[in-house]
This record gives sequence, C-alpha cells and structure tokens, in this order.
Amino acid sequence: MTRAVAIIDLDDCLIPDGTAARAAVSAVLDELSIASGDQAVDTVLAAARREWRGNPHVAHREVERVASWEALWADFHELPMPEATIRALVGNDVRAWRLALDDLGSSADAADAALAFRRLRSELVRPFPGVESALDSLRERHELWLATDGCRSLQRAKLRLSGLADRFQRVFVSGEVGHPKGTAEFTAAVRTALTEGRTVCLVAGDSTTTDLLLAETGGWPFVQITDEVRFTDVPTYCRCP
Ligand SMILES: [Mg+2]
Repeated sequence: MTRAVAIIDLDDCLIPDGTAARAAVSAVLDELSIASGDQAVDTVLAAARREWRGNPHVAHREVERVASWEALWADFHELPMPEATIRALVGNDVRAWRLALDDLGSSADAADAALAFRRLRSELVRPFPGVESALDSLRERHELWLATDGCRSLQRAKLRLSGLADRFQRVFVSGEVGHPKGTAEFTAAVRTALTEGRTVCLVAGDSTTTDLLLAETGGWPFVQITDEVRFTDVPTYCRCP
C-alpha cells in the first residue's frame, strides 16, 4: 500500500517567526517605557546577534541552527550537551538584553526585559489564518510530517503552543537529528522513516535553502511559501492520485 507523506516546515510557514520576534521586542520596549519603533527593534536584534554569534558554544549541533532572535527565548537547560556548553548558553538572553539596553541608553533591568520577552514572544505563537483547515484538508489523504531547523526544546515548545502538534505523525528537529535541514544526512534520516510504502508527495516551506534542499536531496516536489503562496494554498498543489 502506498501512503502519501507531506513534509512541512514550521517557522514562517505555519507560524510567524521573524515578524513575531520583532513584535515581541517592540512590546518589551513598550513595557519598559523605552521608545520603540523599527530602529530600536533593529538595535535589540543586532545586540542579540552580537551576543549569540560571539559565543563559541553555538556551533554545537544541538543549537547550530538556532537564530539569535530565537536564542532570546530558547530553553537550553535540558538539552543533551556537556555541562560547560549548557552553562555557556544559559543566560544568553539576559546578556543580550544588557547589550541592547546599553545600546539604547537604558538602565532598565536586563533580567526583567529577558523575562518579558519570553512571556510576550510565547503569546505570539499562533498559526497563520487558515493553517488549521489547510492541514486538516491535507490530512485527509496524507500523513503530515514536520521538518524544522533549531533546537528541540524551542521547536517542540513552539509546536505545542501553536496547538498544531497533534496533527503531525512525525517531527524532525535538526538539533535532534544531529544535522541541519537541507543536508544529505538530514534527508537520509527522513528517508529512513519512510517505511511500509510511504512516499513523499510534497515538501512545503519558505526557505529556498533549507526547505528547497530537503526537497531536492530527497527528489520530492517542492511548494515554496511566499507572500503570494500561503500555506492555505498548499492542498491545491498536491498531485496525489
Ligand atoms: Mg521556515
């Protein structure tokens, strides 16, 4: 028996990531009574990037695909990494906020800002409009698998907060797989799970590097999510018999 599998990306495909990060930063600045606006948000994100990229431990495979704005609310405590690596990553958020607040000329408490960001960012994990019904429509004839880059704690927390977790039969997170999405090794891990006549009908995602490469290395059809092609359109691209 043939079973069709649709492999779907999470960030900026089913739920907003980049825009949600900016909105949460802006909301933190509002709470701290610091003038927000695009420039102030850029300043915070630049500080976050500086702090994250300056940490040599971010190359560990559990966190190598964590973006600097994601690192502001990722939980590193329970990741299967050496103690020294965990110690070096925990506190990244407070250090980044200290840099950011200094750059903004604010003496606000960095730990307060970091906590506020975690709370406000979590509240913004909501699927794009129509995503639930598009997934349900695909689910009538497909198994849904999720393939996402990042660390297991944050990606699984986002999936849980989105309310979409129970629609997916398999979840592949790059940090767990041990290889980034788009590499031959990640694709091989997905392929190994294609047991009992399962075949991939389509890969959907917004990235022309990671998602497209997953489709290309697997030899599977790709639907790119853009401002014009939303996830809600994906069921119409399915060519399953
Ligand atoms: Mg994405």
